[in-house]
Amino acid sequence: MSVKKMTFFFVNSYVIKAGDKTVLFDCGAILEPEKLPAFLEEQGVDPKDIDLIILSHEHFDHMQLLGAWKKLTDAPVLCHKNAEEFLKTSTKKNLYVFGEKALEYQPFMDFMDESFKLPVPQVTPDIVVGDKDYDLHDWGFPGKIIYTPGHTDSHIALVMDDRTAFTGDTFLDWHTVQPLAEMYPDRTVGLNWIVESPEKAKESVRRLLEVADTFYGGHGDTYTREEVESLLD
Ligand SMILES: [Zn+2]
Repeated sequence: MSVKKMTFFFVNSYVIKAGDKTVLFDCGAILEPEKLPAFLEEQGVDPKDIDLIILSHEHFDHMQLLGAWKKLTDAPVLCHKNAEEFLKTSTKKNLYVFGEKALEYQPFMDFMDESFKLPVPQVTPDIVVGDKDYDLHDWGFPGKIIYTPGHTDSHIALVMDDRTAFTGDTFLDWHTVQPLAEMYPDRTVGLNWIVESPEKAKESVRRLLEVADTFYGGHGDTYTREEVESLLD
């Protein structure tokens, strides 16, 4: 397996080559869509190699460049059924549910306010998965999709046979998220402040620990098993 990480401002996208296939996990944001080809050339990524686009969930920072990726790759898009409505229509009730910590920290809320003004693409997903595991082996890729709700009701993770997981926004290093670097001057791994259900988020962390030991998050560097275990304390 090879993993190419690309960071767009503060959000990660991954190109994962394994078995016979190449998968893009999350699409990035903030970059102007017309600048994506040049960015990929710099990164040494050929969009023609991508066989499938997986979206962890439909928050702007993970999907703003989805339209541009789709155009460059013509690859099918996979998401959870609860992300489908927003992708098609750009509307969804309770798309962002802010926890207490988020509501108490105005610079974060201001940042989110600004972010909501950024345009998002409308894309009809090709593969819509449910709450059950979705196996990719028959398709030629040594991994599966698991449902990891909590951050949103639509959140999924990609788990590889070698116990590596791509975990989106279930947890993150708050130091890497603008504008929180000031509040967290060092690496601080925690559950997400945006949380549809804190109980489900913890349950998803438990599930991830059952199936994986190395965690590639949607923000920040790779997370260790010890760091992820500490979220359950
Ligand atoms: Zn998110």
